[in-house]
Amino acid sequence: LNREKSDILIVGGGIIGLMCAYYLVKEGKSVVIINKGNAQQACSHGNCGYQTTSRALPLNKPKLIMRSLKWMLQKDSPFYIRPQFDIRFISWMLTFAANAYKPKVIERSMLGRYNLLVSSKALYQELFEAEKIQCNWSPNGVLFVYKREKYFEEYKKKIELLQEIGLSPQPFAGTDLQKKEPALKKDIFGAWFYEVDASLKPDELISETQKLLKQKGVEFIDLCEVTAFNEEGSTIKSVVTDKGTFKADEIVIATGAWSTLLEKSLYLKIPIVPGKGYSITMKSPKISPKIPCIFEERKVVATPWNGSYRLGGTMEFAGYSTEMNQVRLQNLKNVTKEYLIDPYTDDVTEEWSGWRPMTNDGLPIIGKSPIHKNVTLACGHNMLGLSMAPGTGKLVAELILEKPTHLGASVYAITRFNQGL
Ligand SMILES: Cc1cc2nc3c(=O)[nH]c(=O)nc-3n(C[C@H](O)[C@H](O)[C@H](O)COP(=O)(O)OP(=O)(O)OC[C@H]3O[C@@H](n4cnc5c(N)ncnc54)[C@H](O)[C@@H]3O)c2cc1C
Repeated sequence: LNREKSDILIVGGGIIGLMCAYYLVKEGKSVVIINKGNAQQACSHGNCGYQTTSRALPLNKPKLIMRSLKWMLQKDSPFYIRPQFDIRFISWMLTFAANAYKPKVIERSMLGRYNLLVSSKALYQELFEAEKIQCNWSPNGVLFVYKREKYFEEYKKKIELLQEIGLSPQPFAGTDLQKKEPALKKDIFGAWFYEVDASLKPDELISETQKLLKQKGVEFIDLCEVTAFNEEGSTIKSVVTDKGTFKADEIVIATGAWSTLLEKSLYLKIPIVPGKGYSITMKSPKISPKIPCIFEERKVVATPWNGSYRLGGTMEFAGYSTEMNQVRLQNLKNVTKEYLIDPYTDDVTEEWSGWRPMTNDGLPIIGKSPIHKNVTLACGHNMLGLSMAPGTGKLVAELILEKPTHLGASVYAITRFNQGL
């Protein structure tokens, strides 16, 4: 295959690539999406489906660093680092830990995350109304649930920071909590309710968006891997794949956790590591929660949809290993048992794992490459790729078309990491 030129070539067909395509095609551009894996392999497929503005704070926290050392010895821990002598990973981890002690980095990340999350919530609403996408969209809030009073109270410290940017959850306890979410067990101490948060069914969002984009003329080249780039000066002239060479005026790199694997051919340092998570999808239990619940103490999430239901969580740093750790997978059910009256069913439709594209400061990488003038990066969305996708897509379109951006873009630039390999 040696293809005629398109305006835009997007590498990666996860939710980020799809949203970039949507906002570019809306501007009249011809778009081709190249995707190497099948739908299930993308992280966008089996995630928990939360659109959570409340997750503005990055993961880098001194407490988490200390607890993760303890968790390394625990088989069913929610956070695990496989001991590995990979210099890139060690350097990533050290920077991740150091960032937890840098208030300026945390503040930059919090504001950068918040702006993208707020913009994406509004854009999802707009998109679903304009394009009639059906994906179990429920903009009715999320509960952060605590079994123990101590941890419920501790969460207040986080709220103090979040209040500075205008996020205030409502507390529920006792009979008020039972009324709010009757599926919770009676011994649960309390929960914080973020009305601003929303949820949807990720695989439905993906398939509906693909259908919409095909109707709008976007071409999908599936099971095709980008392996190299041909350059002329500071411009990429063509993209080499295992199915031939493709030409485009502009290239978007939306390759999620795999982005690092392209860094040498792009002459960039892309500090993203895969953070594996698990999910189990099943038929809804009889007493299903109505509100999506995050069991914060145990880092497990339960998302109810119409007829189906997903438990998800864990963060495993084990390189690009595809092994499904059964202890961690089954632990999602064990944890849920502590919180819900009717925690799961045996009618399981999918057991899944995916790699979150983790940066060491919690911010995604969005913006033009400092090396090639026709390359734009849209990767590294950590635990929030679904939540940030429309805002990212719109920003990428604005940057490529050299339009004023709808939010400050410089904070996401790759130049925040020292460049040069
Ligand atoms: C258990 C779990 C729960 C989660 N829950 C949530 C949640 O509730 N809310 C939320 O916002 N986020 C959540 N996330 C995170 C979210 O899923 C990711 O941030 C998001 O899916 C990343 O999207 P992406 O498009 O960047 O990457 P992906 O969806 O992984 O897509 C990247 C695509 O690029 C393709 N690709 C890679 N390299 C190449 C190449 N060389 N050539 C061609 N194609 C290539 C791959 O095949 C893949 O299809 C969760 C993640 C996990 C694991």
